[in-house]
Amino acid sequence: MNVLVVGGAGYIGSHCVRLLEKTGHTPIVFDNLRRGHADALPDTVTVIEGDLGDYGLVHDVLIREEIEIVMHFAAYAYVGESMQDPLLYFENNTAKSIALLRAMKDAGVRKIVFSSSCTIFGDSSPSPLSESASPYPISAYGHTKAGFESLLDYCSKAYGFSAAIFRYFNASGAASSGEIGEDHSPETHLIPIAIQCALGQRKSLAIFGNDYDTPDGTCLRDYVHVDDISAAHVLAFPKLQEAGKIHIYNLGTEKPTSVLQIVTAVEKASARKVHYHIEPRRDGDVPAAYADSSKARNELGWQPQFPDIDSIVATAWRWHSRHPRGYRSDPDEAP
Ligand code: UDP
Repeated sequence: MNVLVVGGAGYIGSHCVRLLEKTGHTPIVFDNLRRGHADALPDTVTVIEGDLGDYGLVHDVLIREEIEIVMHFAAYAYVGESMQDPLLYFENNTAKSIALLRAMKDAGVRKIVFSSSCTIFGDSSPSPLSESASPYPISAYGHTKAGFESLLDYCSKAYGFSAAIFRYFNASGAASSGEIGEDHSPETHLIPIAIQCALGQRKSLAIFGNDYDTPDGTCLRDYVHVDDISAAHVLAFPKLQEAGKIHIYNLGTEKPTSVLQIVTAVEKASARKVHYHIEPRRDGDVPAAYADSSKARNELGWQPQFPDIDSIVATAWRWHSRHPRGYRSDPDEAP
């Protein structure tokens, strides 16, 4: 199938593009390349550089490329930034995404896979979080995701859109080949930062709080491999055949892992020390967030290939140690 991958040059989008090619689909990437990386994409793929709010361009591409399914990964995704600049987030994640939906409606393309996030749950429900937990976002970013989920629901009823919505827990890891991986600027995520400490690029990892009501006092998260996330997206295609239906899935390995356990996993993968120190809690962090993914397993036959944190961190280490400056690395720069 011809699949328009909006935001396909980003971290999760680029892994999905490779899987689409591998499974016999034709991905066409649409990306403004502001936060994504052209180098993350194989030479075989058509890349259209453009803005998702550009109704005319998106509409033309949908028709010209005979798109059957849109995958929508293009979002700004920093909680802290969304609190400092909410307009940026509502403009990009909401207003421009509405333009995408309008272009889809007018072009007669009504199948969409949408990247949502466990951030929509805020701290209102205890983990494990199933799809029936009520959304209660506590950040502008979370609101943009929860709002778009609702909009898709209305579009399904009004215009017959069919959608698969995936709420990712902590996307992590890198392609097993070591060719592509995570490269954010600035980097705020725990695993890449801990690896930067192992690589000597940072002196010490700041652990945000060790006085939570958790086994070792640090926050618990559910780290799920980026290739496993991609696999779920492709498994959902048959679900999109029925018009007017929305399918929502939480994607996580269902295993809570603490910040200190990530430190240990990075030390194991790298055979190096990760120095850390304790800082105050970070605003907006919930003590524990991990998934109940039984719906994805039962309905889609989804089975994570990287079910434990050591296997996930090993792929991240391979990527970061071979590409210490991300996509800007020189070929023989590895330490
Ligand atoms: N974290 C930390 N130090 C860092 C970055 C993150 O202690 O430099 C903690 C953070 O407080 C959270 C966990 O690591 O408990 C995962 O944070 P991340 O930003 O990777 O993902 P989030 O769960 O916020 O989406």
